[in-house]
Amino acid sequence: MNEADSEEMLLHLFGFGYQQTTVLNEADLVLINTCTIRDHAEHRALSYLGRLEKWKGEKQDRKIIFAGCAAERLGKAVKKRFPQADIVCGAKSLEKFPTILENSSLFKPLNVKIVPEDENKKITAQVSIMRGCSCKCSYCIVPYVRGEAQSIPPEIILENCRIKSKKSPEIMLLGQTVNAYNYKGFTFTKLLEEVCKIPEVKRVRFLSPHPVFIKDDFYKVVQDNKKIARHLHLPLQSGSTKVLKDMKRLYTAEEYYNIVKNLKQLGFLISTDIIVGYPTETDEDFKQTLNLVKKCGFSFAYCFKFSPRAGTPAAELKEIAQEMVENRLNILLNEIRECSSLAYKSRIGQKEEVLFETKNSGRTSGNLWYRTAAAKEAGSLEEILIKESDGKILK
Ligand code: SF4
Repeated sequence: MNEADSEEMLLHLFGFGYQQTTVLNEADLVLINTCTIRDHAEHRALSYLGRLEKWKGEKQDRKIIFAGCAAERLGKAVKKRFPQADIVCGAKSLEKFPTILENSSLFKPLNVKIVPEDENKKITAQVSIMRGCSCKCSYCIVPYVRGEAQSIPPEIILENCRIKSKKSPEIMLLGQTVNAYNYKGFTFTKLLEEVCKIPEVKRVRFLSPHPVFIKDDFYKVVQDNKKIARHLHLPLQSGSTKVLKDMKRLYTAEEYYNIVKNLKQLGFLISTDIIVGYPTETDEDFKQTLNLVKKCGFSFAYCFKFSPRAGTPAAELKEIAQEMVENRLNILLNEIRECSSLAYKSRIGQKEEVLFETKNSGRTSGNLWYRTAAAKEAGSLEEILIKESDGKILK
């Protein structure tokens, strides 16, 4: 989501004559788009902002914009502590970003947008379809900093997909609970069908689905539309129904596993997110997570240690010993590495549809990396027989 938001903010800045660079000393402006989902991410963003004081003082007219979820959570406190920030724009104000720029009188709009070359070459284009989240997972700060879920009108999304697919064959639909999308009765599955009808779109992915919003109509649409990638990043968080209940995740471990079974029957590979060391997680709960991980055979997982976020119910709970959390995390990471290796090796001898992102590499529909010595055209889609894998890449 943050990447898509950054892209949107960049496009507005292009309208003020800026061009993109990653070289700090060439820059006249630094845009820091922040995340606050974990304490560590927020600290890194603030510490970077602190270090920019020197950079700003070295040349006149240098500017800093501090945006996103940490900006929303901390609000005016950022300006007070870091006066070098010219604009602080919280995640809820992203839609007002152009007005904020104009009203700041720090920028003069130009009539020409200089879109950098890179914008023209992306294989995957991200399209936001929702903002905010109406779930209330006990550990999560997102609903507080991004607000209630709001679906973007389908005509805007589809127009965006039409434009972006002229340069990017793969469309990634984005939302905090992407499959909860519903604009006045226009559902997520309807939206998927419509995106698939765009001739230039070769593949459709979406992030992040919530298990509770996966219903039978989803399986049907997937079956009927081969453009929908056979991969789902489906956050699990815990394999213990008791912990899931404490987390207010709204599904049981068994319900999650049933979804995985259904998806696998349709040829899907599943990756996931898991939180280790939630305050109520016992050894037995952790064992259940490990068992479910083995049963699901995830192709990949982001595993995180529980990070208390002030203002969320889980932050009020007593944390468990860090040593124990570290230990559980290492065990889990080893298990995930094995699962991922198996997922790669399971494709040997299979035909896979690869979308090339460079002339030598691309991703399969199941989101596994493929590499070849033969020169291919970036953006082309090819059916390829997988001959070997070392557990990390297909060949
Ligand atoms: S579904 Fe839960 S974890 Fe995901 S953004 Fe919403 S509240 Fe946070």
